[in-house]
Amino acid sequence: MFCHDKHPESHYVSIPRNEHNISRKEISENALKVLHRLNKQGYEAYLVGGCIRDLLLGKKPKDFDITTNATPEQIQKIFRNCRLVGRRFRLAHIMFGKEIIEVATFRGEHDNQLDQTNMSRRSQAGMLLRDNVYGTIEQDAIRRDFTINALYYSLKDFSLRDYCGGITDLQKGLIRLIGDPQVRYREDPVRMLRTVRFAAKLDMEIEAQTAKPIKHLAPLLKNIPAARLFDESLKLLQTGNGYATYKLLKEYHLFEQLFPAINRLFTNNQNSFLEKIIEQVLKNTDYRIANNKRVNPAFLFAAFFWYPIIEQTQLTCIEGGLQFHDAFSVAINDVLAEQCKVLAIPRRLTSIMGDIWRLQLRMKKREGKRAFAILENPKFRAAYDLLEMRASIEKGELLELAKWWDEFQFTSPEKRVIMVKQLNKTFKRKGKR
Ligand code: ATP
Ligand code: MG
Repeated sequence: MFCHDKHPESHYVSIPRNEHNISRKEISENALKVLHRLNKQGYEAYLVGGCIRDLLLGKKPKDFDITTNATPEQIQKIFRNCRLVGRRFRLAHIMFGKEIIEVATFRGEHDNQLDQTNMSRRSQAGMLLRDNVYGTIEQDAIRRDFTINALYYSLKDFSLRDYCGGITDLQKGLIRLIGDPQVRYREDPVRMLRTVRFAAKLDMEIEAQTAKPIKHLAPLLKNIPAARLFDESLKLLQTGNGYATYKLLKEYHLFEQLFPAINRLFTNNQNSFLEKIIEQVLKNTDYRIANNKRVNPAFLFAAFFWYPIIEQTQLTCIEGGLQFHDAFSVAINDVLAEQCKVLAIPRRLTSIMGDIWRLQLRMKKREGKRAFAILENPKFRAAYDLLEMRASIEKGELLELAKWWDEFQFTSPEKRVIMVKQLNKTFKRKGKR
């Protein structure tokens, strides 16, 4: 276990190399290079955040983040392959081919006098609009979100520094916000999403005080730009723990903030197909990620919004007196417009989603040359997967249809011709009757 000696001159607990399991071999070589170079130039530099947390848990880190007392401009002078990014948080990105090492300057405390200046800005609701006050490592630690994300690793002596009790929480399996949860969620409501994301990803408990304000403060997510919420939604649902995360998002009333167009249907008539398809597509996505298969957010969202679109189509038919096909197109536009105001699904994805949805209708009509044309459609495979998922949920005629398409796509070209001929015959017979 770890030694918990308080450092005599500072506020942290130091864990020497022989008392933790982090070895240099597990750390990205590029991150080590950046740390060395900063140290050599006389700056303090540490690995921090998710990478340290994950290494301590024996998991493979997604990326390696560094924090330092060098300012972004000073960092830029040291590294040729450096780009400064971000407005809300100014950061240096050091580029090594595909790998980017993110280097952030220690964040400082927010002095209210300083707020409303160019360095730091707060909205009326207490939200931080800009956070570019630099400070010491102690201040940096308490500006971070969770105790388990505020652990620092130094290359000088390979020791760990724990400023906020992160090691104990890691051992207890607790997600705990640093500071007053109300204030921290108000400063940045996305932290509520991060709470449930880490609870699901790390299979940890949310500490009681950290959990308590979420349901009440969830509506603050309305103040977050739609583009940022889209990025967060992918981290929540498409990184391998989507199903567990979804359950928590619902429990904490966060799901309804992210997906208003879906939530309306949940509350209106408790559509059980809707719940089932969301659970199914998330379980499938988790399974694919666990098996290193590719996943596409367009498919995930196509499944999410299928039943809301059908529901909206029926409403539009009744209220607007439109034909089903026209009402369907109107419904796609309406549902996406409502959704994208809150969570900006990019156009390149909504256009694929539209193709997948329209193919659901087209796949019902297979006579003549139609089935062959559908099979050639680049979105056929995704559309078939959605059809199959709907069939497993709705049962009935859809099961027959999905079975037919399953056979049709995998059989020989000769057999396909026979399959369609059979269909044409039954079609004519029905027509005569
Ligand atoms: P992962 O990358 O595995 O999703 P992470 O903890 O590295 O998890 P990042 O989004 O990469 O998450 O952020 C890196 C670090 O920056 C975090 O560990 C945390 O210390 C800090 N951080 C990120 N977002 C916030 C936030 N909204 N408020 C406060 N600190 C944050
Ligand atoms: Mg990270």
